[in-house]
Parts: sequence; C-alpha cells; structure tokens
Amino acid sequence: MLVFSAIVPHPPILIPAIGKENLEVIKKTKFAMEELAEHLYAAKPEVIIVVSPHGELHEGKITINQAPKFVGAFNKFGDLTTKMEWQGELGLSYKIYEKMETEGTARLIHDENLDHGAAVPLFYLAQNLPEVKILPINYCLRDLKFHFDFGKELGEIIHAENRRVAFIASGDLSHRLTKDAPAGYNPNGKKFDKLLLALLKEKKYEEILNMDVDLVEDAGECGLRSIAVLLGIIKDMNITPQLLSYEGPFGVGYAVMEIV
Ligand SMILES: [Zn+2]
Repeated sequence: MLVFSAIVPHPPILIPAIGKENLEVIKKTKFAMEELAEHLYAAKPEVIIVVSPHGELHEGKITINQAPKFVGAFNKFGDLTTKMEWQGELGLSYKIYEKMETEGTARLIHDENLDHGAAVPLFYLAQNLPEVKILPINYCLRDLKFHFDFGKELGEIIHAENRRVAFIASGDLSHRLTKDAPAGYNPNGKKFDKLLLALLKEKKYEEILNMDVDLVEDAGECGLRSIAVLLGIIKDMNITPQLLSYEGPFGVGYAVMEIV
C-alpha cells in the first residue's frame, strides 16, 4: 500500500558539508525537507521508491535499479565525508520489472551508487530509517504521458502490495529563474513553476500532462517526468498535493510538496 508520497528537489547544496553557508539561503527548503522526514517517519515505510532524473538515462525505457545495497555519497561534489548506506529491494523491484518488461517499458540495472537525484532526498528522508529498503528508478526520455501510464501500472502494484511503500518524485523545477541561473534566464521559467504548482494544488493532472511543450522546454526543468510518474500512481486516490515550501534563490526552483 502507498503510505506516503512527495515531490522533492535535489540540490547537492542541501547536504551540509557541500552547502555550508549556502544552506542558510535555502533554509526554507531545508526546514520543509526536515518536516517531510518527520511525516515519512510517522508513516512507517518499509520500502521507499525514489524516481530520479539523474541516474542512467535510457532513451525509451524506465530504469529499475535492483542492486542489493545502495550507497549515497557526494565525492563528485567535493564532499568526501558524507556517506550513507541502505539495503535494496529485490522482490518488489522484480515484480515491477516483470510487469513492465512485457510491455517493453522498463529495464533492470544493478548499480549500488545512487545519483544525487536520489541521494540528496534520501539524506533527509531516510536518515532515521536504517531498516527501510530503497528502490531507485530513473525516468527515460519519452514523453509525460508515457511516464504517467507507467505510474498507473506501478500504482496497481503498489496498491496491491502488503508492505508499506513510500514514493518520492525527485526533481527540480525551472533552472532559468534568474539572470545568474545556471541554465541562463528565461521569463518562462517563473511562469512554468507558478503554473505547475497551481495545477498540482488544484489537482488538474490532465493539464499538467498537456502543458505547452515550448513553455516546458524554455523552463529547463528536470522534475516533470518524475512528477508524471507520481501522478499516475495517485490519480484515483482522494489525496491533495500540499506545498510545504518553494523558493529559487540560485535560479533553480525547489518545491517541497507532500501529497496527503
Ligand atoms: Zn535535477
């Protein structure tokens, strides 16, 4: 059963050893992640499925990572000290693969190193859950509808599962919010973030899937496909996305949303 779901950002500067004084600038996001972690802890998850944009990216198939254990480390970002480990989830990951494989929508990998799209959220959310099993998924390059449909199928498996499953959609919003934004400024960045958050709050999921492709392209986001998978899972549930925080002081939109 699904006991928790959320949309979270994944800036490496959320990791204290990397962010240092910058963490103060995004403290709204940090506090929201801590609040989310408390809610997740209370939901007593046995498995956390996390979908990330930044693992092995396949053109046509969603990647399911079935490593027996996972390591979250940030050496790439100059942090040689932070390191976390979790167990992988073999049974459920195989069940998902088996169902999706017949439709040609998924493939399996075994890579114990978590990318930052998975590791940053888990640093906050799974720090106090040493027994929880992790099931990382990477979205692919196909469109939103494909990811939504994948989410619907995945949702059927999760809803039928005896164990308590949490689903985390990892993704940043626009990378073009300000003049000094990493991907350069585009006025559609702000417009995209505002519209997406409004549509989520109003549960207009169909409209999210049909968002203007030029607007999405201009925004330079990385989270929309992760969100589409989540929407597929929750589409028939009577739950509403709630915004815990949103900010973008470095030109990238960070939204923390709990779906309750
Ligand atoms: Zn990203």
